[in-house]
Amino acid sequence: MPDSPRFSAEVVSVGTELLLGQIVDTHAATAARVLAQAGIGCQRRSTVGDNFERIVGVLKEALSRADVVIAIGGLGPTQDDLTRDAIAAALGDELVIDPAMETKLRDIFERRKLPWQESILRQAQRPESAELIENPNGTAPGLHCRKNGKTVIALPGPKMEFEPMMQGPALAILERLSGSQVIHSHILRICGLGESTVEQMLLDLMEGTNPTVAPYAQPAEVHLRVTASAASKEAAEAIIEPVAAEIKSRLGSAVYGINSTTLEEAMITEMSERGLTVATAESMTAGLVAARLTSVPGSSKVFGGGVLPYSVAAKEALLGLDRAKLAEEGPVSPWAAIQLAKSVRQKLGTSFGVGVVGNAGPTVDVDNKPVGYVCIAIDSESGTEAEELQYRGSREQIRFRACQQALVMLREEVLKVKVNKA
Ligand code: ATP
Ligand code: MG
Repeated sequence: MPDSPRFSAEVVSVGTELLLGQIVDTHAATAARVLAQAGIGCQRRSTVGDNFERIVGVLKEALSRADVVIAIGGLGPTQDDLTRDAIAAALGDELVIDPAMETKLRDIFERRKLPWQESILRQAQRPESAELIENPNGTAPGLHCRKNGKTVIALPGPKMEFEPMMQGPALAILERLSGSQVIHSHILRICGLGESTVEQMLLDLMEGTNPTVAPYAQPAEVHLRVTASAASKEAAEAIIEPVAAEIKSRLGSAVYGINSTTLEEAMITEMSERGLTVATAESMTAGLVAARLTSVPGSSKVFGGGVLPYSVAAKEALLGLDRAKLAEEGPVSPWAAIQLAKSVRQKLGTSFGVGVVGNAGPTVDVDNKPVGYVCIAIDSESGTEAEELQYRGSREQIRFRACQQALVMLREEVLKVKVNKA
């Protein structure tokens, strides 16, 4: 993420339950997204338990580096809610009682006929330099402190309270601070090329600062995040656009989609545009390819059907593979993948047939093929493409990679067919 020209931020999440892994720190992600929306780069996130000295330490460190610190949680009335006290200590502030807030709290308790306890008054306390941020869904207000050019925003932990406060008043404070810069990203999704290959092809673009170009590897594909910082979303788009176009021209059809488009969605569109259809015979992936293709609305025009000939008997009975040849070549062999692809295409009368066989492990199977050995074939009227692959990883990873590769190989064949614009 590019540095904001003017401001940097850190997020500090407070709560021992976060450190114990009992709850997931989803609020820190929300805070980071809101910061980006306001055009402020989040440079670090820290998590600290409910311990006064340690919270003060983390806050002081964050304040020594960043202009803005967002503190999450620990604003309630109980003994382990220490954030308010820690912020005062980190800023060198006294804690004072906010009289308006005290009145408000006493009113609430009176109206709801709840017993008053002195600890409740803690929620009316604030560091001297703080203003309170209203909490429409709870009793603990948020804090907005400004001191020595630094800003601290503290919000309560419960989701119902945190989210509207972060997305409402906190965002407004942040936007005022940053002068309404926005940070906006596009994600280019790439298949069939490894992360290092992509990096090699784009080294110069990855050195840029606005936009920044950064890869992040996803299972069996690469996503590139192109991020710009600008005065408006439109201005950011204008900065992103030429760089995204350059990436597409260098990587060609390996860029299959942007933002949330999945590979299977791209495939269904590309096949529909060309009037192409496909059928699958998946032994090792047992329907994963079919499931991904059919998860897309409109796939019925493209997907002819699938068979999962898992056993040797099924390969023979359902798809007519020759028993003697199967015994000779092995059920996990390029020959078997090719025969499955050919047979399923012929039986269902589709443009393409996909055949997948392999050993997903974790042990060497009947065919004595190593774990992770996979054969994939794509059959069409112009011939059959087959690949032997050797994957590593868990059973689940090997099956997923094989499924992904089958889609990538199918897509290569699909893209060879010209779109008929008529
Ligand atoms: P309360 O008045 O309820 O005590 P609080 O501001 O003191 O509010 P915490 O006690 O820290 O907040 O957290 C209350 C609840 O909010 C937690 O049990 C958890 O469910 C949720 N929560 C707190 N921090 C986070 C976080 N960083 N991400 C997600 N959920 C959180
Ligand atoms: Mg609490």
